[in-house]
Amino acid sequence: MIWAGSMQNDQHAKPAIVFLSKHADARWLAALQSAMPAEHIVSDQQCSDEAAAATQIAIVADPSPEQLLRFPNLLWIHSVWAGVERLLPIAAARNIPLVRLIDPTLARAMGEAVLAWTLYLHRDMPRYAAQQREQSWRPHSYIPPQEITVGILGLGELGREAARRLLDAGYRVTGWSQSPKKIDDVETFTDETGLRTVLSNANIVVVLLPLTRETRHLLNPEQIGLMQKGASIINFARGAVIATDALVDALSEDRLSHAVLDVFDEEPLAADSPLWKHSKITVLPHISAPTNRHTASNIVAANVAAFRGSGAVPMAVNATRGY
Ligand code: NAP
Repeated sequence: MIWAGSMQNDQHAKPAIVFLSKHADARWLAALQSAMPAEHIVSDQQCSDEAAAATQIAIVADPSPEQLLRFPNLLWIHSVWAGVERLLPIAAARNIPLVRLIDPTLARAMGEAVLAWTLYLHRDMPRYAAQQREQSWRPHSYIPPQEITVGILGLGELGREAARRLLDAGYRVTGWSQSPKKIDDVETFTDETGLRTVLSNANIVVVLLPLTRETRHLLNPEQIGLMQKGASIINFARGAVIATDALVDALSEDRLSHAVLDVFDEEPLAADSPLWKHSKITVLPHISAPTNRHTASNIVAANVAAFRGSGAVPMAVNATRGY
């Protein structure tokens, strides 16, 4: 099939690959093109209707549903994001396999972020920052990491790397996942009873679960109520995994000591959100593990090359499971 776009020539005898994003990003097009010199990567604006009809592969970074509708014959979609909860229903409705980004570089960034913000909580940084504002000289007792239990909810690509970094730093680590896991030095749990155990034993809970039907508001008033008095929470997954009102209540009533939130129900966080000014909440603008354009493009390129070689679509997200 001949690609019918504006740059048609013999070199591009296969259909172009389209890159779709709400915010057309020339840097993504350049990175993907440079990782796949034998392919022709175009934005949707560069595609004629004829070229759109011939397009088999879409690489996407938060596209609008309308952008995808212009491409009726996609064989598969590759997201350059790890979380795909918004895209999955759209792809599943059209029966198009959706491949998500699995990138060790991203996992390393997340492991580093989990360690950094665990240290922030463990070493009382919010408390000392508040004391400095009040010019108050008050040392608090030091607790070694060996006496601190970090419970990780989600032991996937990111949760396992976070566990490794925390273990290296000396913390006790527990973890919770859907299927049983065996990870050296990590006490792992599954199911509702396991969740109760992890929540009730952790000094710091780290959320690294995908947002699915099962995990939406998983941390509700009852589950948050299981956490130890004075425990803290880090949410680096998706805002809606935690019922925000229940979390704010627990913090305001001094049942929990602090929350580090990188993700929110609505992003960017509204200027009038009370979360900004809550003394026990640290707000981060979804920065814990940004996609690395260069390594992600190489991973997409390897998946495209495998598809070109064998015709087999790379392993896709499980639409029934939701992640
Ligand atoms: P993953 O590899 O799919 O791992 C997900 C983990 O969650 C797995 O261990 C899975 O259990 C567990 N899980 C899912 N549903 C569950 C349930 N109902 N009950 C118990 N455990 C459940 O995902 P990942 O790559 O680690 O990424 C996790 C999430 O991080 C992404 O979905 C995304 O939302 C978020 N993220 C955030 C950022 C950021 O910058 N803030 C960056 C990237 C990703 P099994 O192992 O048994 O399947």
